[in-house]
Amino acid sequence: MGMEPTLVIIKPDGLKKSLTGDILSRLSETKLKIIAAKIMKVPKELAEKHYQHLSKEPFFEELIRYITGKIHGENRVMAMVYYGEGAISKIREIAGATNPEEANPVSIRGAYGRILTSGIFENVIHASSSQDEAEREIKLWFEPDEIVMDLYPTEEKVFEKVIKRVWKE
Ligand code: GDP
Ligand code: MG
Repeated sequence: MGMEPTLVIIKPDGLKKSLTGDILSRLSETKLKIIAAKIMKVPKELAEKHYQHLSKEPFFEELIRYITGKIHGENRVMAMVYYGEGAISKIREIAGATNPEEANPVSIRGAYGRILTSGIFENVIHASSSQDEAEREIKLWFEPDEIVMDLYPTEEKVFEKVIKRVWKE
């Protein structure tokens, strides 16, 4: 435990059902600090890295389709980093069990999740489950400068010939 960061993702079903506000209110009960947040599309490569520990599971392909928005016609997710005392377990508690049918009815997954006929657990939210997982996931979803705290060691790299999309003058 101690002071720690954790990654939270509101999945495409959460955005599709306009649950963002409700979920943020529930998470604010923890009194943890939000130190990064963004709405983004999820590239397939990021989804596959995020769920790499499940790549052998029969539901893996469906899970990638789910998190990349192919199932809901909604490709946005909201990714956040929360920080504070026991952040990982506090957020896992409010998120509820992986299977929405087994999740405590007052948890986010218990209240808003469901199992699709395809068998996928549509459970609205992702939350890191250990400090190692949090570090791996935060580094995957965020760059150092998108987070208002220095969580992990950084280094400076000089890039030449960087191609970047900017606003047209
Ligand atoms: P989490 O940490 O509680 O999200 O659970 P996992 O890391 O084990 O799994 C990641 C995601 O894969 C879950 O949130 C579900 O969306 C999905 N998932 C996990 N286990 C199962 C399963 O047994 N069946 C199905 N259909 N989906 C699963
Ligand atoms: Mg997990």
